[in-house]
Amino acid sequence: MSRLASVYPLVTARALARPFTYEVPDEAGKGAVVEVRFGNARRRGVVTEVGVELPEGVEAAAVERVAETLPPVLVDLALWLADYYGSTPARALGLVAPQAPRRRGERRHASAAGALAAEPAPERLSESQERALQRIEALLDGGGGGHVLLSGATGSGKTEVYIRACDAALARGRDAIVLVPEIALTPQTLGRFRARFGDRVAVLHSALTEAERRDERERIASGEAPVVVGARSAVFAPVPSLGVVCVDEEHDASYKQESDPRYDARTVAAKRASLEGAIAVFGSATPRPESWGRLERLELGGRIAAPMPSVRVVDLRREAGYPLSAPLLSALGGLAEHGGKAILLLNRRGVAPAVHCRACGATRRCRSCDVALTLHEGGSLRCHHCGHAEPMGETCPGCGSAELARVGAGTQRLERELAKHVPELERIRLDADAIMKPEQLRDALERFGGARRAVLVGTQMVAKGHHFPGVELAAVVDADTALGLPDFRAEERTFQLLTQLAGRSGRDAPGRVIVQTFQPDARAVAYAARHDVHGFLDGELERRRALGYPPFRHLVRIVVTGPEQADPLRALEELKAQLGGDELLGPAPLLRLRNRHRAQLVGKTERPRLLAGRVAALLVVAAPAMRRAGLTAVVDVDPQSV
Ligand SMILES: [Zn+2]
Ligand SMILES: [Zn+2]
Repeated sequence: MSRLASVYPLVTARALARPFTYEVPDEAGKGAVVEVRFGNARRRGVVTEVGVELPEGVEAAAVERVAETLPPVLVDLALWLADYYGSTPARALGLVAPQAPRRRGERRHASAAGALAAEPAPERLSESQERALQRIEALLDGGGGGHVLLSGATGSGKTEVYIRACDAALARGRDAIVLVPEIALTPQTLGRFRARFGDRVAVLHSALTEAERRDERERIASGEAPVVVGARSAVFAPVPSLGVVCVDEEHDASYKQESDPRYDARTVAAKRASLEGAIAVFGSATPRPESWGRLERLELGGRIAAPMPSVRVVDLRREAGYPLSAPLLSALGGLAEHGGKAILLLNRRGVAPAVHCRACGATRRCRSCDVALTLHEGGSLRCHHCGHAEPMGETCPGCGSAELARVGAGTQRLERELAKHVPELERIRLDADAIMKPEQLRDALERFGGARRAVLVGTQMVAKGHHFPGVELAAVVDADTALGLPDFRAEERTFQLLTQLAGRSGRDAPGRVIVQTFQPDARAVAYAARHDVHGFLDGELERRRALGYPPFRHLVRIVVTGPEQADPLRALEELKAQLGGDELLGPAPLLRLRNRHRAQLVGKTERPRLLAGRVAALLVVAAPAMRRAGLTAVVDVDPQSV
């Protein structure tokens, strides 16, 4: 027995972005992942509908094999995602049906191997944790789903609420997904969940081997592992009946995928929860203004075990000694003398972010990108965009002068200064140059955890949710790094970074925080110094309302790149003229990257799908001319930076 079904072959070509009709066996329904003959090749495909009519004059081939069965709701989720983010159904279906090799040999659980030891469960919940949990349970029992924001300082017990919420889902015969922003954070979260749920926890992220991913997906689909912990892609986990999805550190921009399909796992989590009548719990100590403005708030308040650390703002216009001002040096000296640990954040890699010539004033720039080259250890100048490297040399290539000046400081210089001034402190660096593999990160964190006198130096990696016991001092070396960026999220990002770093200090110690800045009066710095999350977010929402930024309107960003300077701008001018209507900013030129000139047009709109759809249609018409000029266009719905 067989019937006819619509099948999307999983191909990336936009030209083939439509379903084809195949004969499927009776047991294959919507969500079946099948192997089909497609042209001359064998392809995987996903059944999106059964019981369809055969178009006139077409013969349907039979599918060759049913490989896997997905929950049908994942098909709806993928088709929505393709539409909302302007991708193709096949590319979106590829997210919910990733390639899986056939089984060979014995299985081992990736989740058992990758978990860190965890602290024990608290005997009882705090009052605010109890209230938050009761509300989540009430929403679960109400059956209508819901989206809530769980806000509270670092150390206020958000993870415990996630664990209890997952438990509540399991008690009702439902499943749970817990998302963390980065793969590096999964071992820690996995450890806490495995301590409570044992082998019923599975892990999913893009660093698993194909065999590991297949095994974990099978444990999830069979119901053996009803709790899934993972990074972005775990939002597509094939749990049979989602009850709760928790999004930890929900402010983190890593939830947005920066290649097609350009989806945001937070938006997808909310959509999936709505489709399945599940509860989405978004948690953070520094929520996005979008979540603050839109979601029901469940507030945990301050820390359970300790007061918030005191924050001292050091005005670099008055204090000499950058990157280590006198107050910072004296605090570090105290640790060197009495023992203790510090974390120093400097969001720049290398020795110096720029090198310029004192004689002719020229800054050394990348040949292919409009950015300054960064000086690294060993005297090499590197482009942080394209990877180009050249020796700094002894003299200026323009005028021959030997008067080369290093401007500013990066993490490598900071490490050197620390060696000079406080040699008693062990130095551990955490940045993309020092940490290339997960094992290196684990080793660095273990060394820091076990040290008695140590300082962890790093880029924003150090502020990202890792738990370090016994940190007495946390310092931001240069709070102004991000403030100067021409991006409407610059203040939000700075506030988050400062507040998150402060949260790393004193979880179980009397913490102190030092913030060095040239702009002590900047809103983000002033509110972070007072731990005033409400105040910052309320002000930020007002500012965004006035300017028509998210959450009040959506952004749609169109970036065109090409080999000639004038072309991207001209193409976007034409697009703008045809679009009319919606509020459009630009087009404006962007930095040249990898020898490609770039420009962007940004639309503010209440209806992002409509605008993105119109843009996509116009780009299809313009495609032949754009191809001739070597231009490419990318449409990004809800971009994380503009
Ligand atoms: Zn020169
Ligand atoms: Zn470059």
